[in-house]
Amino acid sequence: MSTAVSPAEVKPCSYKHGSWNCPFDAQGDHDRCIFHLSVDQKAPEEFWRHLASYLRALLCAEGDLLWVGEEVDDTLVNSYSSSIKPGDAWHFHGFVFPAMDEEHNFRGFVFAATDFMDARFSGEAHFADATFGAWAVFAFVKFDAGACFGGAKFAEGASFFQTEYAGAANFEGATFGAEANFNGTTFSGEADFVDATFNNRAGFFAAKFTDMAVFSRATFNGRADFRIAKLSDKANFHAAKFASMANFAGATFEGEANFSLATFSTGARFWDAKFAGMANFDVATFNGEADFSFAHFLSVLFFREADFKARVDFYEARLPGSSWMLGMDERTARSIRLLAEKHGWSADAGVFYAIEMDYRRRRFRKTPRCWLQYLLMELYRLTSHYGESPGRALASLAVALLLFSYSFVISGFWFMGRRVDRDLWATPSDLWLAFRLALVNLLPGNLPSYIPGAPVLSSPATRTWAVAQVIVTYVLLTMFLLAIRRRFRR
Ligand SMILES: [Zn+2]
Repeated sequence: MSTAVSPAEVKPCSYKHGSWNCPFDAQGDHDRCIFHLSVDQKAPEEFWRHLASYLRALLCAEGDLLWVGEEVDDTLVNSYSSSIKPGDAWHFHGFVFPAMDEEHNFRGFVFAATDFMDARFSGEAHFADATFGAWAVFAFVKFDAGACFGGAKFAEGASFFQTEYAGAANFEGATFGAEANFNGTTFSGEADFVDATFNNRAGFFAAKFTDMAVFSRATFNGRADFRIAKLSDKANFHAAKFASMANFAGATFEGEANFSLATFSTGARFWDAKFAGMANFDVATFNGEADFSFAHFLSVLFFREADFKARVDFYEARLPGSSWMLGMDERTARSIRLLAEKHGWSADAGVFYAIEMDYRRRRFRKTPRCWLQYLLMELYRLTSHYGESPGRALASLAVALLLFSYSFVISGFWFMGRRVDRDLWATPSDLWLAFRLALVNLLPGNLPSYIPGAPVLSSPATRTWAVAQVIVTYVLLTMFLLAIRRRFRR
């Protein structure tokens, strides 16, 4: 079938995108060329015949390129050749592709500089093992079904800026020689970047992943930018390698975030990131600073056997109390604490010291023969949060004083020749006297006997309480002073 029309009927295609105007002729009665007509306005075989001829014109030589040579129409080749400027990029700008099939696809195809901007693929797009010898632009492209770029090689920059994938996006084992730009891209199906290699900056800024995002064993040799990316399902970065900065600032992980065995060689920034599901950093290696400041962990956080070689920052991070504790282990907390102490980050050292102590307490609780250690640790926690809280120590001190005052009322004491002994019911004035007795009792030696009008201990029971009170008070006072000292050293 020939598309030849009389010269009078030929009008240019009306497709425009930015400054780019389609150079081809409109098709028949339509105002668009065969490439820009919507899928229901053209026959697929007609589209492929034109595309084969156009590709042949682009290749300017006998190609051994798959289906390109099979259905070439020489008239069409000549007509397309006239509209191609030498050295120009390959334009597929805004092309509307019908569904690809076994004969018509770009598997293993070799492209020069290529512009698919604003194109639309109505069926699955097959680019597996394709080679893009120069830059490749797929910005604003709509993939109505799956897109397969598995094993594809991008020698220069690849732009998938604000691309929309309605189906699965497969970039398994793809290699990006220069910058890969997926900023603002929407992945509605599974995004598969397993074993992909990014040799320069990988931009996933504000990208949306509504299905699983799989980057396991991916290699990021340039900066990995996932700032304010939204990952609504599982995010898998297992054993991924980040040679440069990994930036997940403001990213939202709504499903499980798996960074187990990942290596962060420069820095890992999870500043203000939100983890709604489990955050797993087991056996991860942080060679640079790990910044989790302002991060929100709503579920469990695992750092088992993680290796932190530089600073870890949890400034103002929200950690879900007990589950946070469960997610770490004593050894990890201890290694971070030692690291913080070595570098003089005393605030961090304090936080991780408390976590370490909490693990120790839990360990003692589970071991019956360590009941005494457990009891002491529990007291240490209750009275001063492992020496980290001067306020709690002060409150414990006040409570201890009041309890001992009450114990004196019950056990009885002498005041101005009157025996105060009220059993369980203490009047406020008696309690006040007992409180004074508790204070006086803290003075060393027989100093109390020199204070006129001081209440005096009366019975052996009271003396036992008095000894206990002195011990408890001085222990709590020491904890308070130690906690204050820790505060001031920061
Ligand atoms: Zn056109």
